[in-house]
Amino acid sequence: MRQIQHTINNQRLDSSENEKSEVLNPATGEQVAEIAIARNKEVELAVSTSKTAFKEWKNTSIAQRTKLLYKFRNLVVQNEQQIAELITQEHGKVIEDARGEVARGIENIEYACGFAETLKGSYSEQASTGVDVYTLRQPVGVCAGITPFNFPAMVPLWMLPNAIASGNTFILKPSDRNPSAPALLVELIQEAGFPSGVVNLINGDKESVNLLLAHADVDAISFVGSTPVAKHVYETGTSNGKRVQALGGAKNHMVVLPDADIDLAADAAVSAAYGSAGERCMAISVVVAVGEVADPLVDAITERIDELTIGPGTQPESEMGPLISKDHRDRVISYIESGEKEGASIIADGRNDLLDNAGFFLGVTLLDNVTTKMDVYKDEIFGPVLCIVRADTFDEAMTIIEQNRYGNGVALFTRDGGTARRFQKDVQAGMVGINVPIPVPVGYHSFGGWNDSLFGDTAMYGPEGMHFFTKQKVVTSRWPDPTTSQVDLGFPRNN
Ligand code: NAD
Repeated sequence: MRQIQHTINNQRLDSSENEKSEVLNPATGEQVAEIAIARNKEVELAVSTSKTAFKEWKNTSIAQRTKLLYKFRNLVVQNEQQIAELITQEHGKVIEDARGEVARGIENIEYACGFAETLKGSYSEQASTGVDVYTLRQPVGVCAGITPFNFPAMVPLWMLPNAIASGNTFILKPSDRNPSAPALLVELIQEAGFPSGVVNLINGDKESVNLLLAHADVDAISFVGSTPVAKHVYETGTSNGKRVQALGGAKNHMVVLPDADIDLAADAAVSAAYGSAGERCMAISVVVAVGEVADPLVDAITERIDELTIGPGTQPESEMGPLISKDHRDRVISYIESGEKEGASIIADGRNDLLDNAGFFLGVTLLDNVTTKMDVYKDEIFGPVLCIVRADTFDEAMTIIEQNRYGNGVALFTRDGGTARRFQKDVQAGMVGINVPIPVPVGYHSFGGWNDSLFGDTAMYGPEGMHFFTKQKVVTSRWPDPTTSQVDLGFPRNN
């Protein structure tokens, strides 16, 4: 069985308190790895070695940092399949999704490779006579990244490349449910030749996170996970004087207008709601069907659901794998029960499709006539459950979105450019798709929601990520021109 240890100062080590936790394959329920859990001693060691490494790393030239980032990028490309297989084994998503996740992560390394351009700063010559003013961006220090289970490779890559490109050292604390892909990424960092301590890996649970949040030598925290934990991380981290960006959960709406292409909208709804078993922060979990589009749209979605193949992510024909754990599957089932009790119409019932093996499979559920008062609408379920809310008008759809507590992603399906423009201007969410169901920004834009989907004011990766990982310094400098000033230079002037 794989043993997942910490990597501190380029060395593997176990936990001093010998605390371990099991990692399961969600498709079989079997244990595939054992993970060491970081406690005080490991957190102290990770932070102190990161702090020491920062002194040299921040002074390492742009040329050298860029070279190492390119090496890392090439190693991740070469190992893409192996990373994807580890993701599928410990997360359950189908191998194509896992490969897609790695590809999106690579985009972020590629963006970081160009950091020399992004972090050039700015210069105002002759702000006053003989005075120049310029802005520099300098690294923050020791940064920690705390990541969720649903993208075990991509989310660490949202943070790590930009953090180290801009001269910080970085401590990764990935989810304890699927630690092998992030552990492999850290091995590749080592293989690329980054000096010891520039990237440390500690594995652990909430106690390990709380030790990082309380540590005086951690300067910045990047967090991605559920809303209650994001809020806790933001409040605790900032009250301890740290810079924090904390991305939380979501309830993403897709509005379908009567003029939309129904086939396009139904394809989009099915892949965005049920892909990765709905365990995506950008999954569509609510379709707001406006006016007469509702009946034909529900029919078109139902037809497609009937054709979905559910099975282990390793099988090429599978389109949807299992959920992450038995507990999580039970929680999702309890939401289907609650929707039924609250009066939603069950068009497709995932409880009929638990598959007869030991894995954590659950079929897909489609609930129609859902209202905004129901728990299935209000809460993030994070499973293969799609709610249809019927609205009479576009304005009613906009109000529904505005009143939702989350504001991560939204999508609109229409053929009307004017309405699409109104939507992108007025909708209350951070990421907007127009005839695109999962509008995850490319690596050179930034990712982040609004309201309860993001605590802090800086989104993840891209320009905002670089901003988060650097602090501003403004220099005002006076060098009188010896040819014109009256300053006594102590030697003859040339003119
Ligand atoms: P989670 O909040 O349970 O865990 C995230 C991280 O926090 C893990 O590393 C975990 O070990 C740690 N953690 C858990 N409980 C903690 C606590 N009480 N105190 C301190 N640390 C704690 O999230 P998850 O279940 O791993 O991931 C799924 C959630 O992440 C969903 O809500 C999903 O929407 C969200 N997510 C959001 C985004 C985004 O960009 N907004 C992206 C991916 C996932």
